[in-house]
Amino acid sequence: MADKLIIAGTIKEALQARCPDAVFLAGGTEINRLNSSVAAGTLISLKKIGKLHGIRKDGDKVWIGACTTFQEAVESPDVPVWFREACRLMASRTKRNMATVGGNTAILRDDSYLVPALLAARAIVVYTEKSGKNEECCVCRYLDMRKAGKLGDALILRIGIDPDRKVLLKRYANTAMSHSVMNLAYGFDPDGKGISIGAALKNTGLFKLRSAEELIAADPEVSEETIMEWARKFEAKIPTDMFGSEEYKRYLLGTTIVKFIADARKEVLA
Ligand SMILES: Cc1cc2nc3c(=O)[nH]c(=O)nc-3n(C[C@H](O)[C@H](O)[C@H](O)COP(=O)(O)OP(=O)(O)OC[C@H]3O[C@@H](n4cnc5c(N)ncnc54)[C@H](O)[C@@H]3O)c2cc1C
Repeated sequence: MADKLIIAGTIKEALQARCPDAVFLAGGTEINRLNSSVAAGTLISLKKIGKLHGIRKDGDKVWIGACTTFQEAVESPDVPVWFREACRLMASRTKRNMATVGGNTAILRDDSYLVPALLAARAIVVYTEKSGKNEECCVCRYLDMRKAGKLGDALILRIGIDPDRKVLLKRYANTAMSHSVMNLAYGFDPDGKGISIGAALKNTGLFKLRSAEELIAADPEVSEETIMEWARKFEAKIPTDMFGSEEYKRYLLGTTIVKFIADARKEVLA
């Protein structure tokens, strides 16, 4: 349990306050929860940093400040419908009023509401490390670097999305309030090309499904059998657990991608 709270007024103050036992505090829905996965002695609150708030259009991107709450995004006419739908996967409005886009991206949960959609959207993460210099990369690179143990200290400033990109979402869970067994997202350009698939597989991890994307890019008419075979062989360690058997989860993964391909085709032709 943290015993020190620092309220940062600027990005510089937040970066300077970093110390080995400190973490950033955004909405606090993860940090302050019972049995939280985040342990820290010092919390650096980001809430008063004006530059981390707000949603704005700039050029060909919509930029969503890291401290934008899920509910603010749901109510914003400037964010695409798929982004609002991804935020609504957090069923509790009370939690949506607190939880932030930056916090959900940073925590990289294996049942993440947003990260699969951001992977499918080829979203951009703008972040800064101790130097204070702004860096940016696509969410898939951010995920790869975090998996490699890098960027754990980075402060996410904003997320950039292309409003023209299409993203289809599918969540599997027992109830709206239960943990997701699987959150999947399928992104494509208006012409049907540029496919990206993001997946949050409970007790397995977060993935950009590159091998499936390659199959579809190589043959847009790829058969259901080929996708189901891909899902059976997908190179992740998927456990049999209270959420279902490994075989069942692989089946869900395959059939959902088959459905995404068909739905995307319909949307491009419409
Ligand atoms: C009952 C319950 C169920 C939940 N179920 C789910 C679920 O199914 N899926 C899911 O995705 N989440 C779930 N959560 C977790 C949580 O609500 C969300 O992940 C939320 O989006 C985290 O955002 P936050 O602003 O509250 O983050 P915080 O709790 O403030 O922070 C979370 C982590 O992110 C870091 N962080 C926050 N902002 C930044 C930033 N700008 N830059 C860098 N690091 C930052 C913090 O240091 C901390 O490590 C659940 C929480 C509860 C209480």
